[in-house]
Amino acid sequence: MGHVLELGRRVALQPMDAHCHDITVALYRDLAPGGTPFYAFHSYSCHPDAGLRLDFLAAAACHLGGMVASGARAHAVAWPCGAAHLSATRRLFVEVCKLAGPALPALRPPEADEARSGARYHVEGLGAGRYRLSADAPGDMSVRLRTIAGGFGKLAEMAVDEAAGPAVAFPCGHDHDRLVALLLPRALNARAAMREEESVAGRGVLVAPSAQNQPN
Ligand SMILES: [Zn+2]
Repeated sequence: MGHVLELGRRVALQPMDAHCHDITVALYRDLAPGGTPFYAFHSYSCHPDAGLRLDFLAAAACHLGGMVASGARAHAVAWPCGAAHLSATRRLFVEVCKLAGPALPALRPPEADEARSGARYHVEGLGAGRYRLSADAPGDMSVRLRTIAGGFGKLAEMAVDEAAGPAVAFPCGHDHDRLVALLLPRALNARAAMREEESVAGRGVLVAPSAQNQPN
């Protein structure tokens, strides 16, 4: 129990990391001495490759999501704005755990294609953490764009301004360009993305009951 408390609160779990001998990887949230939230990748596995895998996952969160390394702990990362962005961080955790490594992938462009509709969607930074959504597609896409804006709201706790394009905004007031580009394809089907998060975390594992179903 003491060990768990030292790590902070577990906020995400990959029970079986297929890219590293099925080790369990978890993400813990804690506060740095100044009160800034940070997140640390952690594994209880003593497999010799575990440390390298955690190094990679932390580096991938910085590269793909725009987080920065935190000196607070090994394999720890934080948002440069100092905010927690818990939902977005959980989403980023799911995304980086999919990566085999060790090479970091190319950055995502601020656009995404949707096979079903043939539409191409764009996110355009407006400054101060706001982003306008738009679509290249025939016909009126306003309803679809509002749904996608709502997807950003669910996935990353962003505020939705339907009148502005629509636009979505981070409550911290800071830009997170890499994160927005990463989230865009998921925001096209936010419900499926959220189901994926739940199924990854809930996959048949031997986890102590106290560690399961932790609230937000
Ligand atoms: Zn922020």
